[in-house]
Amino acid sequence: MHEMAIAQNLLDIVIQEGSAHGVSRVLSLSLKVGELSTVVPESLIFCFELLSKGTLAEGARLDIEKVPTICRCRECDHEFSVTDLLFSCPKCGSGKVELQSGRELTLESFEGE
Ligand SMILES: [Zn+2]
Repeated sequence: MHEMAIAQNLLDIVIQEGSAHGVSRVLSLSLKVGELSTVVPESLIFCFELLSKGTLAEGARLDIEKVPTICRCRECDHEFSVTDLLFSCPKCGSGKVELQSGRELTLESFEGE
């Protein structure tokens, strides 16, 4: 269950950043999660709730925004979203595509008081 490790990571960041900025309570976290990352939002929320008990992030809300999988064709520069894991360019048919987004899991921001 790698959501546990991710939740711990997020918690470490908000606690560290939060204390550095004099935050006594973290209200919410904004996350971007790529469609291709294997994170299950429900598990992540569950793990975060579990780990944050007794910390300044206890009860914080996780806002998870899904990031679509975007590829760019190296042949014709066409950008397209991938829906069915067929990684070839719909415009020219080339298989030389680069993944632009879809794998990320980033903490965009967090709110505290
Ligand atoms: Zn192309």
